[in-house]
Amino acid sequence: MTVLTFKGGIHPKYNKDNTASKPITSLAAPKEIVIPLSQHIGAPARACVEKGDAVKRGQVIGEPGGFVSVPIHSSVSGEVKAVEPRLGAMGVAVPCVVIENDEQNEAVEFERLADWKKVSPDTLKDKINAAGIVGMGGATFPTHVKLSPPNNKPIDTVILNGAECEPYLTADHRVMLEHAEHVVEGLQIIQKILNAKTGIIGIEENKPDAVSAMEKACEGTDIKVVRLEIKYPQGGEKQLIDAVLKKEVPSGGLPMDVGVVVQNVGTAKAVRDAVVDGIPLIERVVTVTGSAVAKPGNFMVSIGTPVSVVLEHCEVDLEKAGKLILGGPMMGFAQYSAEPPVAKGTSGILVFEEKDVEVTHPLPCIRCGRCLDACPMRLVPADIAAYSDKRMYDKADANDALDCMECGSCAHQCPSQIPLVQKIRLAKSEILAAKRKKG
Ligand code: SF4
Ligand code: SF4
Repeated sequence: MTVLTFKGGIHPKYNKDNTASKPITSLAAPKEIVIPLSQHIGAPARACVEKGDAVKRGQVIGEPGGFVSVPIHSSVSGEVKAVEPRLGAMGVAVPCVVIENDEQNEAVEFERLADWKKVSPDTLKDKINAAGIVGMGGATFPTHVKLSPPNNKPIDTVILNGAECEPYLTADHRVMLEHAEHVVEGLQIIQKILNAKTGIIGIEENKPDAVSAMEKACEGTDIKVVRLEIKYPQGGEKQLIDAVLKKEVPSGGLPMDVGVVVQNVGTAKAVRDAVVDGIPLIERVVTVTGSAVAKPGNFMVSIGTPVSVVLEHCEVDLEKAGKLILGGPMMGFAQYSAEPPVAKGTSGILVFEEKDVEVTHPLPCIRCGRCLDACPMRLVPADIAAYSDKRMYDKADANDALDCMECGSCAHQCPSQIPLVQKIRLAKSEILAAKRKKG
């Protein structure tokens, strides 16, 4: 079978062996659950419960704050102890609903759908919206919005992202192995909503068991499974479209501009669970691994479970830990505390011992061009970073800084250890602020 890929990218050490063969196991929800009202891109949800309210598992506790927003549901039954700011994954306090778990697991009645093929695309979309589904690969963009392209942007192809190109993470791998039929059914539902005739599942070739499982699940359908080169960031939307379809999404554009929608395999499963079983997004698979984790694995975790609880289960001694990251090592976020809860976009929890944490000492740029070769967006990271240093944000904008997907490939390759992503991120935020000011 041909192996597909895109231009640029890097080959970091994958380090997936510790968890790739570990089946998903459920972690019991703790006594206190802390559910952020903003776990997605867009407007935060608004709390619709207050202190003292009794809640059931699956009950809406936050109403969407706009179209680009989703409802938030309780992942346990119990009593609301507070609606207050708590530390989130971005290092700042965010509004949260704190629930004391009564451990009765009493759920609302989930509305099952006997045959989704017989209902309209709008009804399917409403179910996805009501279930609070967002992109589970880490992007957390509300799924119902992605499934509502304007009429002048018809979609002919849906690509499921099963690349899982971030080192260490194996959650998607396990979902494909253990829930292959549900992933395929989720893709079919998405295709029906978008009236997209072509469905493709892209998987990096370091997961041959997942390729086989998905091929078996696709038997009797028109859905194709394609093997992708093992290369980071193979799972980026634009890179996936380039690799699979040889189509280029224009600068500043979206996949819908070339008739494509990309969804993560975990999101497809969540879509199927919402539509068929009526279950909202209240738990997710999280990979817990790294040199400081004594018992690594893939766990089904209730949304709102504090990271500290997960780490205790995996026998992590935080006193010895040198670095804690939520997400993958390339695009995840380093934490100074294990207090934040697991949210809808938490694909991994990585903890490394002090001795394994590299301390960087940036040196001047030697114009070697390695960052340029690595950039999957064909940018010149060294130049954009230099403009950022000099606060020449208009020049950074003219060099397409806004196209940077913050994948970290450039910084990974830089022999001078220059923090290119941070510099480019600063330029992007200044450019966007200036654009907003102009109106
Ligand atoms: S410039 Fe942006 S898109 Fe290009 S490699 Fe660096 S982080 Fe990735
Ligand atoms: S890789 Fe680093 S040293 Fe080389 S050109 Fe890019 S920024 Fe400069």
